[in-house]
Amino acid sequence: MFAKIIIDQDAKALDKVFEYEIPDDFHVEVGMRVIVPFGSRRLQGFVVGISDKCEFDSSKIKPIQNIVENFAVIKKEMLDLMFYMADKMHLKLASCLRLFLPSEMRTDKIKELVVNVCSLSESYSLPSSRAKKQMQIIEYLKDKKSEKFSELSSIFGYAPLSALVKNGTVIVEQEQINRTPDFDKLPKVDRKLTSLQQRAVDTIIDNKTYLLHGVTGSGKTEVYMQLIERVLEKGKTAIMLVPEISLTPQVLANFKSRFGSQVALIHSGLSAGERFDEWRRIFFGDARVVVGARSAIFSPIENVGIIIIDEEHEQSYVSESNPRYDTHDIAEFRRKYNDCTLVLGSATPSIDSFSKAIDGEYELVEMPVRVNGMEMPKIVVVDMLMEMRQGNNKIFSIPLIYELKNIIEQKKQAMIFINRRGFSSFQRCRQCGYVAKCSDCDVSLVYHHYENKLKCHYCGKRYRALDVCPSCGSTDIKQGAVGTERVVEELKSLFPDVKILRMDNDTTSKKNGHRTILNEFKDAKPGILVGTQMIAKGHDFEDVLLVGIIDADQSLYQSDYRSIERTFQLITQVSGRAGRSAKQGRVILQTYSPRHYVYKFAINYDYKGFFKKESNLRKVTNFPPYARILRILFTHEDEKIVAQDCKDCYNEVKKIRDEYANEFVYLDVMKAPLNKIKNKFRYQILMRFKLPYADEIEKKVFNCVNEKCKSSVFFETNPNNLS
Ligand code: ADP
Ligand code: ZN
Ligand code: ZN
Repeated sequence: MFAKIIIDQDAKALDKVFEYEIPDDFHVEVGMRVIVPFGSRRLQGFVVGISDKCEFDSSKIKPIQNIVENFAVIKKEMLDLMFYMADKMHLKLASCLRLFLPSEMRTDKIKELVVNVCSLSESYSLPSSRAKKQMQIIEYLKDKKSEKFSELSSIFGYAPLSALVKNGTVIVEQEQINRTPDFDKLPKVDRKLTSLQQRAVDTIIDNKTYLLHGVTGSGKTEVYMQLIERVLEKGKTAIMLVPEISLTPQVLANFKSRFGSQVALIHSGLSAGERFDEWRRIFFGDARVVVGARSAIFSPIENVGIIIIDEEHEQSYVSESNPRYDTHDIAEFRRKYNDCTLVLGSATPSIDSFSKAIDGEYELVEMPVRVNGMEMPKIVVVDMLMEMRQGNNKIFSIPLIYELKNIIEQKKQAMIFINRRGFSSFQRCRQCGYVAKCSDCDVSLVYHHYENKLKCHYCGKRYRALDVCPSCGSTDIKQGAVGTERVVEELKSLFPDVKILRMDNDTTSKKNGHRTILNEFKDAKPGILVGTQMIAKGHDFEDVLLVGIIDADQSLYQSDYRSIERTFQLITQVSGRAGRSAKQGRVILQTYSPRHYVYKFAINYDYKGFFKKESNLRKVTNFPPYARILRILFTHEDEKIVAQDCKDCYNEVKKIRDEYANEFVYLDVMKAPLNKIKNKFRYQILMRFKLPYADEIEKKVFNCVNEKCKSSVFFETNPNNLS
């Protein structure tokens, strides 16, 4: 017999299926991990097929050397998924496989945790009465039935315990222990669903994809839990995805208290041992609900009845580095494979998903009202240019300070949000608010500090940095953004007696960092929590009555066709933190562009109005979801090679463009905005084409590019980031 094997190496030359002979005394199944000879090396591989014939010259074929586990670690569904991803997303087979196993397991750095457990043997003789400690051990075990050897030995001493083991009174057995992540305990509550929630639960029953559009505080989590409960009752399993940053202790505790030990948690805060054991619990069917971030979509869970993607609009569902994938696509694959339900939930669905709902590809389910019937927080827009003209050059506007004082007097809480997404900044005139844009693309230019130039990240066009405002002639030009630290400092000097906490990447890097800060904030009254995106979602603090958004424009002028959509989402999410219980909340939104349409829709919570405007714009300008952007990034240590590769490929792609002349909106080749990273030079080809032939064009482009070049090539469709 022969096995088809994928070598676990991330190299282009090895990205194919190799054949090996199966020795007669080996039991090999599809999905098993094996060791095979490869040249002079021994490498790990995965069996993806078995047959009695081989296509390779059978006299030269080598035998499999060893089997790593005696069962298939990659299940059938995942193998199918691997081939699907390789084909549709142009990924290497081995790099897909890597997504399916905990990396510590693949590299054999982690094993099951096995401990010695003691119990009494069925017939034991009592020790002489002088052996007091031995008696105590026996009493203890009578009572507790079993206990870890290490524990007993530390309570009663090693000598009496080992004496009992020697004479057969105490039996020692090895037991595998699960390292389960800990969580806050919450009481289990049975809630009566609101009529909107009930309607959602009753509607979401078929094996298709639903878009659950529910305002912040509409109680989506409760709907998810009921849906999961129903699926479990039918003997099926569930996958619940949450963005990494909103995998808060609160969310985890919620699911754990509802579903108990049936839940497995997958997130970046786990230790290697915890991750491995949770994976095993899922693999062997002990866990039936997986709650986790993006990568949990690859859980080896079988018989899936429902997949839920909460906050489906979140960018973090797209893996931007190799292997690049969008969680939505993987979820859609698994939905079809398992013939189950997929729910995409959000208060601010992505333009992409909502347009699918409009087109009937998804079924739309709406929850337009908060659970408690409270009105959405009132959003007040503050024109920071006006503030400046009135002599206030500070971070905080006068209305924000006024509201903060109010909150402090009432011993309530506030959150201050600073958007620091991305590393690049734009330049803005402090007098009139002018922001430089690309003449060809209508996106804001990005200021490159190092070269002191403005660049368009879409077409690569370069412009002189501003020293005089072209619109009003002022030389008062500003760049860069205010950081969380600065804000905390200012707040402390304004309100020295108030508890002020900071939550960002720096303060949450330690294990449980989030939990510590949030627990501290819970009791801080009055208190102010200052933070980045991390505070924007998931939290449910009833005394937060005020949210301040320091510089809402920060995301508006990122050079990205989604920047306006993202601004709308952020404002809605952050505002959603206020007024979640008995009192209506208030939001102070500081901006330099108060008349931008995004704010008009955001303050009225008019998602549909916003969708209409934004999707129309995208339609007429040929941007996704009404067209496709494809970026091919080339990297190599040698700039000459990468430039040549890129140029050669560009010439090939041009032929495709000529063939599909009516479809192409744009095609160009350029240095990537970040021209060199880690000593590798980066060049790119960017193109945009209409949808009808998009798959066909993409495939052709991929095939002709992949054949040719020495550089490593990275494909991205509709990239989030063009740096
Ligand atoms: P969303 O995710 O839609 O923003 P949540 O799921 O966080 O909203 O729910 C908002 C709040 O309402 C939470 O505190 C939740 O415990 C509470 N809640 C949800 N459903 C109900 C219900 N049926 N009755 C009472 N409270 C509810
Ligand atoms: Zn100006
Ligand atoms: Zn441009």
